[in-house]
Amino acid sequence: MDYLIEIQQVTYQYPTGEKPVLQDVSFQIKKGEFCAIIGPNGSGKTTLCNAIRGFIPHFYKGELHGDVRINGKSIKDQTVGELSLQVGFVFQNPFSQISGVSETVFEEIRFGLENLGIDTVVAEKRVDEVMKLTKITHLQDRNPFELSGGQLQRVALASIIVMEPDILVIDEPTSQLDPEGTEEVFEIIRLMKEKQKTIILVEHKMELIAEYADHIILIDDGKVILNGNNEEILTNEKVLEHNTLLPQYAMLGLELRKHGVNLDRIPVTEKQAKE
Ligand code: ADP
Repeated sequence: MDYLIEIQQVTYQYPTGEKPVLQDVSFQIKKGEFCAIIGPNGSGKTTLCNAIRGFIPHFYKGELHGDVRINGKSIKDQTVGELSLQVGFVFQNPFSQISGVSETVFEEIRFGLENLGIDTVVAEKRVDEVMKLTKITHLQDRNPFELSGGQLQRVALASIIVMEPDILVIDEPTSQLDPEGTEEVFEIIRLMKEKQKTIILVEHKMELIAEYADHIILIDDGKVILNGNNEEILTNEKVLEHNTLLPQYAMLGLELRKHGVNLDRIPVTEKQAKE
């Protein structure tokens, strides 16, 4: 079996930390898989994302044991620039993502391509296509700083998608958005899933995870607690012991089963509950 991402016995301690924040973490992700990472605050999810994009060990020093391999090659043997072509990273706060030097949304999305020295005509065609895909063409002449949080997060996603990475690492993209902004951002994530991108998503909203994720990893205190497919994890009461929720339909199903109701399958989404 060939895996696109292999996390091999990773133990990592920040230079200022007192103990490792990742402890013997191992799992694999296949090409085209949508993997959600769940777990309580401070459990090491963002740190893990930073290891996958090579910021650990290249920017954050500290002690890294084990290895992360992308496409069979260790992150230790690739520069952050090389890795950024394969792994696109979307931040929790879209303001952290934007370059701050572009006067318009169009320029902002073109920025990364320009830095790579891609021909202007080719770059602008790619920007146009991605703006259409992410439904932000009407914003192209606006200043990024004038946009709403949801609009800005879509621009941030577009500026990553335009670089055409195989892997998207998305760290709580909607934690600062209202329901409308959340829906708009997930519409783009849904499209990326349809395009068979490999997606790693850190998210607390379990209803969204239930709808999208193929593969789920629960981490707590820097350790992998559970690693399995969507239904396996989202119907496992052990998740609740780690300060992490389950989808409301799964909770209801588990409760009904406890009261003797004979359910063949615990639903994890509204669609499954109606079936
Ligand atoms: P999560 O994303 O699950 O909330 P993080 O990966 O952000 O968890 O943090 C895991 C632990 O590492 C926390 O205890 C946090 O305080 C610590 N930590 C995060 N970033 C740094 C850093 N740059 N330096 C030292 N400790 C850090």
